[in-house]
Amino acid sequence: MSTPEAPDPAPGAGLRIGILALQGDVREHARTLRGLGAEVVPVRRAAELAEVHGLVLPGGESSVIDKLTRSFGLRDPLRAAIAGGLPIYGTCAGMILLADRVEDAIAGQQTLGGLDVTVRRNAFGRQNESFETSLPVPALGPEPVAATFIRAPEVTAVGTAATALASLADGRVVAVEQGSLLATAFHPEVSGEDRFHRRLLERARERA
Ligand code: GLN
Repeated sequence: MSTPEAPDPAPGAGLRIGILALQGDVREHARTLRGLGAEVVPVRRAAELAEVHGLVLPGGESSVIDKLTRSFGLRDPLRAAIAGGLPIYGTCAGMILLADRVEDAIAGQQTLGGLDVTVRRNAFGRQNESFETSLPVPALGPEPVAATFIRAPEVTAVGTAATALASLADGRVVAVEQGSLLATAFHPEVSGEDRFHRRLLERARERA
């Protein structure tokens, strides 16, 4: 007699994931994470950051998000969370925020840092030059990722502590990882791709 197998729990079951909700495409990330069964909380205050198992830094405008993290008193708590190993996934502007070094920043723009990479802002031109491409990401399996680039940065240098996860056909690095930090120059969340979010949830579960 065979016993019916219990259905696998959702990848995000029991995990509370924050999305930095000062500016940018918060809603798309929330939809993706909820679809994976995670509890999603917008993060605008240090107290909210302290209660999450993982965090998304969304796309948007990195210089604006930088300013807002400072005026919301979140810069130091975010830096402490990064140093403390909180699993974080940054897309586009979020990748810029995680980079240790940034080219073509506006005057006074700072990053949070944590990823040993150099990124160049707006490396693919303007908003109307946005594009979607099918991108191989071997770490996520054989199926390529539908990657949407919207005024995206590129990674111009990968330091020894970081690992490139994906490059365009011309060799430009567009996804990187370092310990608990994951970052993509593109937006998978707008095309229904959820494997980067699953990877964040795996890291969050290891830590929870
Ligand atoms: N160009 C933006 C910046 O520099 C990033 C764009 C995006 O997040 N889609 O912050």
